[in-house]
Amino acid sequence: MDTSLDQLYLRLYGDPVLRERTKEVEAFGEPLKDLIQRMYEVMYEEEGVGIAAPQVGSRQRLLVLDVPLEDGGEFRGVLVNPEILEEEGKQKGEEGCLSFPGIREEVTRADRIKVRAKNEAGEDMEFQADGFLSRAVQHELDHLNGVLFIDRMSPIRRRLLAKKLRQIQQERTATPQ
Ligand code: ZN
Repeated sequence: MDTSLDQLYLRLYGDPVLRERTKEVEAFGEPLKDLIQRMYEVMYEEEGVGIAAPQVGSRQRLLVLDVPLEDGGEFRGVLVNPEILEEEGKQKGEEGCLSFPGIREEVTRADRIKVRAKNEAGEDMEFQADGFLSRAVQHELDHLNGVLFIDRMSPIRRRLLAKKLRQIQQERTATPQ
């Protein structure tokens, strides 16, 4: 494991780990399970629907989701080494990000996607997603490549957010951990 458990806390915009590319997970043992559990904890503490490992300071390639579905159910699970195999169509919708408290903005993403990943036991899975689940997977997968949702916004929107972004960075450096 690249990071001890007490260093796994929510990372805000400005933390350099959010801009790093992650490494493929190769070991599916207890340390990975501990990391996943901590990611769920932080996600639920902050009332998020998804979180990627860099958002808790880890450079491993995984994300967890607990996304409400239109049929009233939910998609809850961990995607290890995820990749998007196919994408189709476009959707526009509002997004937030735990690393950007207080910011919600419209982002355009692919509508339908086909995803391949491993679960926490290292078993392969493939599934299709559309709507909000598809959006959530794409948002979290971006994190694994050091890409943030502000990168997907228009330059004008980003400029309008400049003050809020500075405030988040100040808050980050002012908060003792
Ligand atoms: Zn995010």
